[in-house]
Amino acid sequence: MIDTHCHINFEDYNNDRDEVIKRSQNTLDAIINSGTNIEENNNVLKLSKEYENFIYPTFGFHPVTSQDSTQNEINKTQKHLIENIDNILAIGEVGMDYFYVKDKKLRQRQKEIFTSFIDIANDYKVPLLMHVRDCEKKAFNILEDYDNIPYVIFHCFSGSLKTAKRIMDKGNYYMSFSTMICYSKRHQDLIKDISLDYILTETDSPYLAMTKEERNEPINVEKAIEKIAEIKNIEKNEVDRITTKNAVKVFNL
Ligand SMILES: [Zn+2]
Repeated sequence: MIDTHCHINFEDYNNDRDEVIKRSQNTLDAIINSGTNIEENNNVLKLSKEYENFIYPTFGFHPVTSQDSTQNEINKTQKHLIENIDNILAIGEVGMDYFYVKDKKLRQRQKEIFTSFIDIANDYKVPLLMHVRDCEKKAFNILEDYDNIPYVIFHCFSGSLKTAKRIMDKGNYYMSFSTMICYSKRHQDLIKDISLDYILTETDSPYLAMTKEERNEPINVEKAIEKIAEIKNIEKNEVDRITTKNAVKVFNL
């Protein structure tokens, strides 16, 4: 069982990070921890060294929380990323968010930044872990120009079934479902028609807990797996086996 996307480096865990991680080690095989800017990318790398062979790093640049960055900061982030390209499992989270960003110019800027990170994934043949919200089809179409990205992951996939079908047709694209599946009717309906062969599981901790007040943690990925098993009427162990196998392949664990 693997949590393929979370932020265990965030300050939300400053008081009990080690306990949270130890707790998850009883159940999980691995945690993939994603950076959102240059400082967090450094923190993610540090944690992966502290918990070697359990916490794995990806370096990213969050489309919403990092959108005010200057070009100089973006360049620095990318230089740092390339310097560490052999230490990370994927580039992400990077992407576009049309839910939070409505302004046309800002959306165009998001696209330019996103594309510059895709270029790196393509040049270095590294998996791409994407945060894409309310523009899944657009992101999919942008990626059509690239041939060398080994795997593409739509983290917290919330697109249409039509886009999901195009994603499945690619063969090396995956959709990640979070603990949100436990309460989101939309995601519960969506996953019914998506093959387990293209599904990954995650928590996006500290976000997306069962209630808004709660802090999520990686061990809760088990709840997502249980819910997927229930919806698809498949044994929990089988859902775990297939989604874990997918994650091992995508992230080369
Ligand atoms: Zn995230």
